Amino acid sequence: MAKVSLQSITRKYGNVTAIDDITFEIPDGEFWVLVGPSGCGKSTILRTIAGLEKATSGKLYIGETLVNNIPARQRDVAMVFQNYALYPHMSVAENLAFGLKMRQESPTDINHRIQEVAHALNIEHLLKRKPKQLSGGQQQRVALGRAIARKPQVFLLDEPLSNLDAQLRDDTRAELKQLHYRVGITTVYVTHDQVEAMTLGDRIVVLKDGKIQQIDTPQAIYATP
Ligand code: ADP
Ligand code: ADP
Repeated sequence: MAKVSLQSITRKYGNVTAIDDITFEIPDGEFWVLVGPSGCGKSTILRTIAGLEKATSGKLYIGETLVNNIPARQRDVAMVFQNYALYPHMSVAENLAFGLKMRQESPTDINHRIQEVAHALNIEHLLKRKPKQLSGGQQQRVALGRAIARKPQVFLLDEPLSNLDAQLRDDTRAELKQLHYRVGITTVYVTHDQVEAMTLGDRIVVLKDGKIQQIDTPQAIYATP
């Protein structure tokens, strides 16, 4: 895990300023949530951290490394979206192992890590199945597992639960919290959902029109005056 530090990050598309002078530093291992109305810049911030977008100006550090010019694939970052794209022809175990095999880790280490991740996400009984034999909630758990299996330094989630029905959302949210508690990866989580923000976030960043409105604990943000 590593701290993530944005220093005056701005991203413009032509004359649209998607995010404007964004500065914050997420300490090692914390879980931060970005909230705000559609179009306020949440995804742009996430994609900039991932390296899928380039900042127009400002500095972005992961750990002590300035990563502005480091491409996505060389950043030690994992990202999960709302539409969990699992490899359909691979079993759950093979999906979980994918990133580890790419890194040429030993079969023993890979097996150990698969068991660990499957246990943390309660999918041990599903390891031999193919994605199409899983429910939406199970597929999203596998997607979360695949993302963290290779122990990235930073975990980025863009509305990962929004395609799930209410009950599954509650269950998966609880598991995600448990997962973070166990593995402690520095996490940035985008959501519209106040309950997710409150229950998951160590800190919440409230955005509006590409600017930071407030950064505080869930208690301070959602306290009714
Ligand atoms: P959010 O995730 O909060 O819904 P986004 O980060 O997707 O917001 O978008 C922030 C702003 O930047 C919006 O005004 C959006 O229209 C604009 N924007 C995002 N991506 C692009 C793009 N590729 N080209 C032009 N404008 C974009
Ligand atoms: P990343 O692009 O961050 O490495 P993945 O490991 O998920 O993320 O994807 C690796 C490549 O495989 C990408 O080009 C992606 O588009 C593709 N891919 C993702 N999901 C599937 C899928 N279900 N079937 C086939 N290819 C996929």
